[in-house]
Amino acid sequence: PYSPHLAFWLVYYATTGQGITAIHTGGGKILGTQKIVGMTYGFKASVFVGVPGYMYHVIKSAHGAEKQLSDIRLLITGGDRCTTTFRKQIVGLLKEMNAPNPRVCAAYGFTESRMAPLECPHPKGVDGELTGYHTYPDLELWYCIDPKTGERVGPGEKGELVWTALDGRGTIVMNYRTGDVAEAGIKYEKCPHCGRSIPIISSMIGRVSEVKDVRFDKVKGTLVDLNQFYTIMPEYPAIDEWQIVLQRNQETRIDDLIVNVSLKKGKNIPEKKLVENLSQYIQEKMEIAPSAIKLLTADGMSQSLGMEKELKEKRILDLRPKD
Ligand SMILES: [Zn+2]
Ligand SMILES: [Zn+2]
Repeated sequence: PYSPHLAFWLVYYATTGQGITAIHTGGGKILGTQKIVGMTYGFKASVFVGVPGYMYHVIKSAHGAEKQLSDIRLLITGGDRCTTTFRKQIVGLLKEMNAPNPRVCAAYGFTESRMAPLECPHPKGVDGELTGYHTYPDLELWYCIDPKTGERVGPGEKGELVWTALDGRGTIVMNYRTGDVAEAGIKYEKCPHCGRSIPIISSMIGRVSEVKDVRFDKVKGTLVDLNQFYTIMPEYPAIDEWQIVLQRNQETRIDDLIVNVSLKKGKNIPEKKLVENLSQYIQEKMEIAPSAIKLLTADGMSQSLGMEKELKEKRILDLRPKD
C-alpha cells in the first residue's frame, strides 16, 4: 500500500538501502491494475511485492492482456495466508508467460514489530517445502504460547506468536501477543536451505480473529475456522476467486455463511452442478454446510473483493452486527 504503513516502509527501506530501483504503486486502490500491469511489463520488473490475492489479480490481468511478465523471478507476499496450492497457481500462470522458475517468498509482519521476517527461497521453487519466516534474533525475540493458558509451547509446536523488541527505534512492545497462530510453531535448527542458524517461524499462520462463532441454528454457536478456506478453495480445481460473507438474518437471528465464487477462464460448469459439488466438498473438508453458494462473474467477483478499492481485498467479510 502507499501509506505510512509497515508494508510500504519495509519495501522502501529494503530497496533504497540496496540501491534497487522500485516503484511503489499503492495497489489497485491508488494506481489501478491496468497501469500496474503496464509498468511491470514496460520496466521488465523482476521482483513483485504485494498481498497474494491482489498479486494474483495483477498477474491474471497481465495474462489476459497478453502482457507477458516473463522477467519476474521473485514474488514477495505479505499480509495474508499464502498456501502451497495458491503459490503453484500463481507460478503456473507466470510460467505460462515464460517466466523461468519464479520463486515465492512470503513475509510475516505486524505493525508493532516494524519488521517482517521472510522465507528464504527454496531451491526447488514452489515444488519445495515452505521454508519458514527467518527471524532476526539480534533485534527481536519470538516465542509461541498456548492461547488459552498463556504457557509457552515447545519447539515446533503450534501456538500463538508473541513478540518482544530487543533493539530498534521508536515504540517498544514487550511480550506482545499477535493473535496469530503458527501452525507448526518455531524451530531452532539450522535452515537446511540457506544455512542460517536463527529461530524460524513455520510458514502457515492462521489469525485467531478468523476463527468465528457462527450461529447456524438457534440453539448454540459453532466455532468455524475460516482460515481453512484459504487452503481448500484454491485446491478446488475450477475455482478462480472466492469470498466468504457472514451475515445475520434479522428475522430468524441465525447466521448465514455465504460463499461467493468465480470460475477460472474457460471453465463452464452449470451453476446448479457447481453449487451441489462445492457444497459437498466444503462439508467434507470443514464439517459445515454453507447457507448459499453464489456464482459471480470475474468482474463481479473482483468488485465484491474490492480489488481496485481496498488496501487489502475483502476475502472474508463479516457483516454481522457486533454483539
Ligand atoms: Zn495462457
Ligand atoms: Zn533459510
